[in-house]
Amino acid sequence: MFRKILIANRGEIALRIQRACRELGIPTVAVHSTADAEAMHVRLADESVCIGPPSPRESYLNIPAILSAANITGADAIHPGYGFLSENANFAEMVEAHGLTFIGPSAAHIRMMGDKIEAKRAMASLGVPLVPGSAGAVNDLDEAAKIADQIGYPVLIKAAAGGGGRGMRVAANAAGLEEAWQTARGEARSAFGNDAVYIEKYLDRPRHIEMQVMADSHGKVVHFGERDCSLQRRHQKLLEEAGSPALTAAERDALGEVVTSGLSKLGYRNAGTLEFLYQDGQFAFIEMNTRLQVEHPVTEMVCGVDLVREQIRIAAGEALGYTQADVRFNGHAIECRITAEDPVTFAPSPGKVTAFHAPGGLGVRVDSALYAGYTVPPYYDSMIAKLIVHAPTRAEAIARMRRSLAEFVVVGVKTSLPLHQRIVEAPEFVAGDYTIHWLENFVGQ
Ligand code: ADP
Repeated sequence: MFRKILIANRGEIALRIQRACRELGIPTVAVHSTADAEAMHVRLADESVCIGPPSPRESYLNIPAILSAANITGADAIHPGYGFLSENANFAEMVEAHGLTFIGPSAAHIRMMGDKIEAKRAMASLGVPLVPGSAGAVNDLDEAAKIADQIGYPVLIKAAAGGGGRGMRVAANAAGLEEAWQTARGEARSAFGNDAVYIEKYLDRPRHIEMQVMADSHGKVVHFGERDCSLQRRHQKLLEEAGSPALTAAERDALGEVVTSGLSKLGYRNAGTLEFLYQDGQFAFIEMNTRLQVEHPVTEMVCGVDLVREQIRIAAGEALGYTQADVRFNGHAIECRITAEDPVTFAPSPGKVTAFHAPGGLGVRVDSALYAGYTVPPYYDSMIAKLIVHAPTRAEAIARMRRSLAEFVVVGVKTSLPLHQRIVEAPEFVAGDYTIHWLENFVGQ
């Protein structure tokens, strides 16, 4: 097992990883920007190192500074969390080149899945079903028009290097193709420095369903079931559930079988999530995330597993020690992503938190780095807390979420709490009857 783990992240996820390390008896090193000197992840770490100014480019994305911090503190492994360097294959490679362990998959797999065109190609060869679309990158507008005619409008132009919902544009018809094409490419170029794009059929009423997978370095792969992440705004998730209200246990088992056998053939290692669109009883792969995800707690609650602990054990070379048949799904879990944003305009609302009270009680979990007196900085993601509830049934989980949201107090910054309160009262949500397009219309009401 590792001597000491450096956590190359901030906020709630840095705390989340610290908790797993502490329970495993492994000391942690926190890294932070000058803006985060008073942050909870720094206060609770065994050691901390300042790695640069507030701008992420100069701190949380500053690879030399992070490697130096690991070196001077004697850390022998690095956990990247999510976001920042978590899907940066060069970083994973450099960590290993410095004699440290990267807690995640191999650099080769990160690179493969980071290119969505490559990822789709790899999945197709493993027998995983795809959303209909171009076979690879589309080089010019003429080719785009041909493919769009073949698969039929509406189509989606997507960046090969895409992430966070950026570099993605819908063309409703042939007249709208050129604009979607130019905008998607322009956004991809400025956000990712890579304007390669591909085309997919734009599905009109899919759900976003993803499978959580864990693979050890001894060839064993298990899945921990699905999450339904259909409640999105601008392709960004706001609320997630495990399991999906739309899926039967048989459908979950069938998809789990496709996914685990595929990743086993690929020789994949550590945590991963395969994302699918689900419509008319059909699954279609869209992308794979080669890291821990924001919404991993709903899976943890339902399966009774600590996914970060599993990631660390696997990176240290330990075997999973259980089989698919040992994985049990108990009850239902829901997560709300609470952001420091105006609940109507979604404008970020950084500033000082003057009062903070987190809900509690049976089946309630709050993953947050907030405290009264903390100043939410303007430089980073606006998510300030994840509220997760677990109950025997979905109806009880919704009741628990309603009362937990009502108990939650954050004063000083605007938050998305009122929006989440509206969502969990909505009849469509209560019925589990929603697609990826539902929330966008709902917030517009
Ligand atoms: P990113 O990596 O930017 O998150 P994804 O490929 O995961 O991009 O897609 C994000 C979201 O965009 C999906 O969850 C879904 O809501 C929507 N989306 C992606 N592809 C399609 C498609 N072919 N049809 C309809 N919606 C899509």
